[in-house]
Amino acid sequence: MKRVAFYTLGCKVNQYETEAMIEAFETAHYQIVEYEDFADIYIINTCTVTNVGDKKSRQITRRALEINPEAFIAVVGCYSQIAPDKVMEIPGVKLVVGTNERAKIVELVEQAIKKDEKTNAVADIMQVHDFEEMSIKNYKSRTRAFMKIQEGCDQYCTYCIIPYARGHIRSRKPESIINEVELLAKNGFKEVVLTGIHVASYGRDIGEIKLIDIIEMVHAVDGIERIRMSSIEPNILTEDFIDRLSRLDKICRHFHLSLQSGCNETLKRMNRKYTTEEYKEVVNKLRNTFNDVAITTDLIVGFPGETEEEFEKTKEFINEIQFSSMHIFKYSPREGTPAAKYKNQVEPKIKDVRSKIVSEIAALHEQAFKEKFLGKSMKVLYERKVDDNANLFEGLTDNYIKIVTESRDDIKGKILSTKLIKHEEDYVTGILNTERI
Ligand code: SF4
Repeated sequence: MKRVAFYTLGCKVNQYETEAMIEAFETAHYQIVEYEDFADIYIINTCTVTNVGDKKSRQITRRALEINPEAFIAVVGCYSQIAPDKVMEIPGVKLVVGTNERAKIVELVEQAIKKDEKTNAVADIMQVHDFEEMSIKNYKSRTRAFMKIQEGCDQYCTYCIIPYARGHIRSRKPESIINEVELLAKNGFKEVVLTGIHVASYGRDIGEIKLIDIIEMVHAVDGIERIRMSSIEPNILTEDFIDRLSRLDKICRHFHLSLQSGCNETLKRMNRKYTTEEYKEVVNKLRNTFNDVAITTDLIVGFPGETEEEFEKTKEFINEIQFSSMHIFKYSPREGTPAAKYKNQVEPKIKDVRSKIVSEIAALHEQAFKEKFLGKSMKVLYERKVDDNANLFEGLTDNYIKIVTESRDDIKGKILSTKLIKHEEDYVTGILNTERI
């Protein structure tokens, strides 16, 4: 039996696609081994979102050759799509596949082995108009499933290479989504996280069905108790959308609304398609509709041309919104994007200072959000055991608070009423309630 090892870089969408490729190899009777183990075939699913992602993709690829100099190495994903020639030059690489055709990975690998020559199978992603079905039947964990429902992006934010790596928007067919959700429910999953490259654009390419319709369909599947959306932009949260969401009791009170900057001039240069005023209006609507809702976000500091005055506006804005959690990135120029060529790049030292300032503000808001719930009971979906000796389990509330609770029983995969006790650095300790909430 041939052995195959996988390595995944980057986002949840990549992780989903690797899971699907693993399943394809298992079905074809290959043995899956760890990446650090000796394997006959190594498959690296790459990321290209930053130049660091590119470098890491190359390093990991070289690592495979150190483990087995005779190995067949296939490099797939975003970096392959953007720079197939560079990937082909990496010693040992025999097959390069982009962000499409991964559903056929077993076939492509077997053909390339037979031909015994380097194969570049990267196609022009801009010519691809259909969602590539790569569904998963046997998810490894049994609690929360990240499910890919959408591919590609047509937004062209000026700092982002992803539209060139993933191509135009493509939506997964509703029947296929529902089939997978039903399977997940049958296999004991409690929570589904709807993911994609630009989830908010779901449906725009396939006619009448929109994201909210899909959410309602998923909501109707028995056995699934929570539905969460991955990152979305504020524009999709119209009055009607929020109103329809508010009638669905399985919707998690958690919205990850990408902000990127709290200053309209910066947002414009980023080609983000909303203003801070529009953003705030959506946050207010969500807060008025869902009690204790968590609003989380991403922010980039040091975008080209970000003056002190612009940064001040961002600071004021995040102080006004008070996010329950923030991911803060220092802008790093990505070759091939318009912003990388902008003249007024911000000095690294200034980016460091700005990142530190907003991180401190974000930490205060996060702490204040979590502390509001101390002493209260909330439902927690326990996902994994963190410490065997101490019998500690980790889980999430629907409004995205990480909880760590001690239990002698195995509570993985269960949604249990838990009293929130103490705020630690990045989690809250809980105690299981015996009474129901
Ligand atoms: S919305 Fe913007 S940041 Fe997100 S993938 Fe598309 S281009 Fe990139």
